[in-house]
Amino acid sequence: MTEVSVAKEDAAATGDLVVLKSVNKHFGALHVLQDIDLTIARGEVVVVIGPSGSGKSTLCRAINRLETIEGGSITIDGKPLPHEGKELARLRADVGMVFQSFNLFAHKTVLENVTLGQVKVRKKDKKAAEERARALLDRVGVGAQADKYPAQLSGGQQQRVAIARALAMEPKVMLFDEPTSALDPEMINEVLEVMQQLARDGMTMIVVTHEMGFARSAANRVVFMADGRIVEEATPDQFFSNPRSDRAKDFLSKIL
Ligand code: ADP
Ligand code: MG
Repeated sequence: MTEVSVAKEDAAATGDLVVLKSVNKHFGALHVLQDIDLTIARGEVVVVIGPSGSGKSTLCRAINRLETIEGGSITIDGKPLPHEGKELARLRADVGMVFQSFNLFAHKTVLENVTLGQVKVRKKDKKAAEERARALLDRVGVGAQADKYPAQLSGGQQQRVAIARALAMEPKVMLFDEPTSALDPEMINEVLEVMQQLARDGMTMIVVTHEMGFARSAANRVVFMADGRIVEEATPDQFFSNPRSDRAKDFLSKIL
């Protein structure tokens, strides 16, 4: 991978980057997030796992303010989430998000996909933005695809472009919501390897995934959710070898 800085923060800076306090959210009668307390330190890699419908995506979306919350608070780098306007656009740039479906702009080239936000939100000039975009595309191994359109790329390549696009904004934290779930099996590793490298480079990451190999090797902490609650938090070693809760034991017995 080529040298390009991905973390906006001074590597020496420490402290809590993402702090959720008593976060609650309903969808109608469904209490989808129940008193969520979660603190993520700078440089930490947290893997969120749990059964389908437990609230993992809603949690990610709340941190990026794609969902509003009803009670409690969420701060990013000490600042509460803004409600609207330019402040919100900047927040979304600070919090890079990679979804299961790659969500690239279909009618823009790969290079344009990775350049656009830098110019619009980060106010970079086009040349500098393109330089950074090319360096990031090289870094995730798709430099040769820069002038193609997303549909001309494989799923694994598209997902790596989506990661480069998020990184281009110099995010403080990266959220990944099941980034490999929609991929053919042979493409999963190429995406996980890019994520592993990011983790090694010190990026703060929140990763929802069923890839337990990734959780074991990259995570500092596993957060297990069920029914809208954080049921258990542990190191990967502790969690996989000795889960404490019945819910976690049951979940692990089904997936391992
Ligand atoms: P997970 O990502 O863990 O599978 P989600 O956060 O996607 O869980 O969903 C949690 C619950 O909230 C599910 O029961 C889901 O059906 C419900 N849900 C998610 N989004 C909405 C929505 N926009 N409106 C109503 N219910 C929703
Ligand atoms: Mg989900």
